[in-house]
Amino acid sequence: MSKTDTAIQVTGLQMRYGAHVVLDGVDFAVHRGEVLVLLGPNGAGKTTIIEILEGFRGRSGGSVSVLGSDPEHADEAWRARVGIVLQSWRDHSAWRVRKLLDHFGKYFGPYSTDERARPVGTDTLLQLVGLTDHAHKKVGELSGGMRRRLDVAIGLVGNPEVLFLDEPTVGFDPKARREFHDVIHRLADLQGTTILLSTHDLDEAEKLSDRILILAGGKIVANGSADQLRKEFSDQTEVIWTQDDQRHVHAGSDATTFARNLLAQHPEGITNLEIRNASLEDTYMTIVQTHETTPSQKEGKQA
Ligand code: ADP
Repeated sequence: MSKTDTAIQVTGLQMRYGAHVVLDGVDFAVHRGEVLVLLGPNGAGKTTIIEILEGFRGRSGGSVSVLGSDPEHADEAWRARVGIVLQSWRDHSAWRVRKLLDHFGKYFGPYSTDERARPVGTDTLLQLVGLTDHAHKKVGELSGGMRRRLDVAIGLVGNPEVLFLDEPTVGFDPKARREFHDVIHRLADLQGTTILLSTHDLDEAEKLSDRILILAGGKIVANGSADQLRKEFSDQTEVIWTQDDQRHVHAGSDATTFARNLLAQHPEGITNLEIRNASLEDTYMTIVQTHETTPSQKEGKQA
């Protein structure tokens, strides 16, 4: 399968809840085999995008294609090619891990239209998500991190071409987070699965992604590998200062002029003035703050 094939295409995607504009013309594509991380603050609309792509949520406008079909009108054969990670099976706490995976595996097969859509065997799944040594355990005995990896294993039973993961590591301790990151790397490397994963953690986005999209103010405001984003914004400088016991930050390429004007306007009240190049994290914060209150969102919130 060629890396240049498009697995997901989103064009002009709009989503409103009443007067609240959440997505205001979102455009992006995901190539087959790519790990794309959708990064943005809480409330940016990441879950909304993922649920629209999964076919769980309608949209207000724009076009969306996942594996060549519109998720809103896709059939069961399409559904079998898309991995969705749900937690609803967790009621089965008395089931053993291996038994549960065997059980879900039996649901796959009838919709297979190509070789790739064969179910993944239970042993392979256990290995992929790092649960081989815990296969005999009851679901109720698993830690939170193990349970999340089992969520993913169940999402992978049908050997999906595309896997959606919505903030999969929320609430994880560092060890569970690292183990989960290993799962994603294995999936991308061994299975060639196209993965769209959302997070609000820049560090996680950097570790996992082939490419990062930053969602803020209802739009994709940055799109590139971590290195590309760093380069793209490297001419940004930050002016940081304290005034009336409050810390202020201004980001831009006009640092010297800005600092000069600031001191001219407030000859007495400025302390701790600092000018520095922005890191990727600083840049991310600035991008998000700048775009979080777009005119359309303000209108929506007031209405
Ligand atoms: P994220 O996943 O980035 O945290 P969400 O997609 O969950 O963001 O939510 C984006 C915005 O849409 C939030 O302001 C949220 O309150 C709003 N929202 C989400 N679902 C609904 C809904 N069913 N009805 C009304 N507003 C919603």
